[in-house]
Amino acid sequence: MINITIDGPAGAGKSTVAKMIASKYSIVYLDTGAMYRGAAYYVLNKGIEVDDVASVLGVLSSLVMNIEYVAGAQRVIVCGRDITPFIREHNISMAASTVSKIPEVRIKLVDLQRAIASKSHCVLDGRDIGTFVLPNASFKFFLTASLEERARRRFVELTDKKIVTDFDNVLKDMSARDYQDSNRSFAPLVAAKDAIIIDSTALSPGEVVTIIAGVVDAAFNT
Ligand code: C5P
Repeated sequence: MINITIDGPAGAGKSTVAKMIASKYSIVYLDTGAMYRGAAYYVLNKGIEVDDVASVLGVLSSLVMNIEYVAGAQRVIVCGRDITPFIREHNISMAASTVSKIPEVRIKLVDLQRAIASKSHCVLDGRDIGTFVLPNASFKFFLTASLEERARRRFVELTDKKIVTDFDNVLKDMSARDYQDSNRSFAPLVAAKDAIIIDSTALSPGEVVTIIAGVVDAAFNT
């Protein structure tokens, strides 16, 4: 299977670019962050704090997650319920980062990610896809941008959704999440040694897609 991995911090443009790549090559897009968000939502919904490791482990075996596609869009199904509409809420971002530090949670979701990637050509975005989930992926990219630019993009996104917030808070939350994702001991956010690093600070999504497609197409034209 052809797997294209796009790792990087929040707000770097991974999901926008990955969706464009998926549509360009007619392959599956797997948003792995949505899976950690789904796990965080499941835990919080049980009245458990995401940093209460013993309680999280206590309910982990009853977490049944499936990924489905409806009209081409990924849906996260947890215990038979489509929870996709709820996982983008602001409090879920940090909760996902916290629950994703637990190795058992990661292993469970990584198993599902590997199963999906073994059955379909796909582009996956996340934090550890090129380093841990699919170390032998066909193409690996690490997409980043300055913290200020990433926070600006997230601020515009939240404002567009009429979510009231202020820029300094968005920047502070993003910086805290970067720190937590990069410093966890198991499968942290880091560029794979063989990943192509793209700094999108001054690039549009289309320009990033052109870079990625250039690498992919060159490999098939040689
Ligand atoms: O990509 P997104 O911002 O939706 O991811 C939410 C959180 O899930 C991240 O902050 C990160 O902690 C976690 N995550 C992860 N590994 C992945 C994808 C996401 O740890 N492959």
